[in-house]
Amino acid sequence: MASDMNTEMMDQRGKNFRINGDRLWDSLMEMAKIGPGVAGGNNRQTLTDEDAEGRSLYQKWCEAEGLEMGLDKMGTMFARREGTDPSLPPVMVGSHLDTQPTGGKYDGVLGVLAGLEIIRTLNETGIRTRHPIEVVNWTNEEGTRFSPPMMASGVFAGVHTLDWAYGRTDAAGKTVGAELERIGWIGDEEVGARKLAAFFELHIEQGPILGAHRIDPDAKARQCRPWHGADHAACRRDRLVARAARGGGCRALRCLSEFAQHHPQQGCVHR
Ligand SMILES: [Zn+2]
Repeated sequence: MASDMNTEMMDQRGKNFRINGDRLWDSLMEMAKIGPGVAGGNNRQTLTDEDAEGRSLYQKWCEAEGLEMGLDKMGTMFARREGTDPSLPPVMVGSHLDTQPTGGKYDGVLGVLAGLEIIRTLNETGIRTRHPIEVVNWTNEEGTRFSPPMMASGVFAGVHTLDWAYGRTDAAGKTVGAELERIGWIGDEEVGARKLAAFFELHIEQGPILGAHRIDPDAKARQCRPWHGADHAACRRDRLVARAARGGGCRALRCLSEFAQHHPQQGCVHR
């Protein structure tokens, strides 16, 4: 039965095929049990015990799919599925599992778990890709506990130094470096050492673009609040583009950036 389905799916190569929406939904709901928040949302702020628990669950799911987990010195997680051409850099997809104090279930979590669902679908259908695929969970995208937001991706992109980021403090005077160490999610890998061919991020849009287009978001999506405003992923996008450009080109990423700037309503990268 399974092999029949695989054969059938393999015949679909080159065509669009579907992920398992129910499975993605179940994973979103499972992750949302960690760090419950207000109004059915989540409070899973960066480098807390809840963040550590969410990371462990994500790691467990990745291991079940045979992915190799990379961890850099900012605690960013890179779950890798090898491609068929070892000379090619990975295509990255991902976002963030941390939330605002009154955050929603979806937001960046959807971006990470949708990446995982892509992997699950590829594994299930036996499809190999030429490029490796890495599903990324950036540390401290939200920036409420430790300012600024997009911290680890900022270090990755060369906007901040590692030591500067480590020294950022929360309201209780605890530092990023000490809290990373405490929750056990500090890696050995140099931040920014990884090469990438492209980066895709699926992210719940909650900002003014929807209002401008008179689109009423689904009630569930409303739980994702626009605390970080519409510049959140746009800044990360621009930083990653700058980094890719410095790294000797990354045409796909630049194309994505241009697409996002010219078609903001497409929800490619929120803005
Ligand atoms: Zn976000």
